[in-house]
Formats: sequence, structure tokens, C-alpha cells
Amino acid sequence: MYCPFCSVRDTKVIDSRLVGNGHQVRRRRECNDCHERYTTFETAELVMPRVVKQDGSREPFNEDKLLNGLNRALEKRPVSTEQVDDVVHAIKSQLRATGEREISSHLVGEFIMDALKKLDKVAYVRFASVYRSFEDIKEFGEEIARLGE
Ligand SMILES: [Zn+2]
Repeated sequence: MYCPFCSVRDTKVIDSRLVGNGHQVRRRRECNDCHERYTTFETAELVMPRVVKQDGSREPFNEDKLLNGLNRALEKRPVSTEQVDDVVHAIKSQLRATGEREISSHLVGEFIMDALKKLDKVAYVRFASVYRSFEDIKEFGEEIARLGE
């Protein structure tokens, strides 16, 4: 690929390693010309089911949207970027494993909540409170109480 700094065509791979539980290849590259170093990630492109929203409209699965939702819930929480990447990967695998061509946004939300519940309880409650829009504070309290069980 062209160097993102000077656009010369001659770059080399100086390191290559598996990340994301082996589902991604991370490569360190160096430009032979300007000697800048940069990183590329390689993943398999697999077809994801389309998401059916509550109003019945369909949209392509959007990984950025998933990542943004997770990051919002995980703001200022002690969770590494790699852990978040693992969650994204796990959710995508679950969605693909359904074997469906279309899945409800509700199911996507459930998968996200399951993953967050295991990863970080605070993030889980944050996400659930927005996603389920708890009717009142009592319901919210009950959900938090269940986490302690
Ligand atoms: Zn360069």
C-alpha cells in the first residue's frame, strides 16, 4: 500500500502479529522513503445480517455504531481498548451464528447487554438504562439489585 505520509509506493512490513483473539492481523509498516511507521489491521470480511429496526426499516449492520454505543457506556471505566474490540468481535460472531439474514435491533441490544454485564457492571447499567429506558427509578433499582446476586 502507499505510504500515508508521503504516498510513495514502496513500504515494507516490519512486524506482523495476531490480535483480537487471532481474528485480526496487526502489521507494523515502514516507508522505505520517508521512514515513517504506521499500523494496519487486517480482518476477514464476512457478511453480517441486516438489522431490522423497531419501525420495521432495515439497515446494514454498522460496526462503528456498535463501537460508539459501547464506548459511550464504557466512558471512564477501567476497560481496555482490546477488551472492547473483543466484545465487538464476540457480538458480531453471535449475530453471524444466528444464521439469519435479518435480525432485530432488539436482539442486537440484548447481545450488547449480555456482553457488558460480563465486562463491566457500571457500563451495563448505563447501557441498559438508555436502551430499556427504565420506566421509573424503582425498576432501575431492581435491575441494579439483580446484579448483586
Ligand atoms: Zn513515506
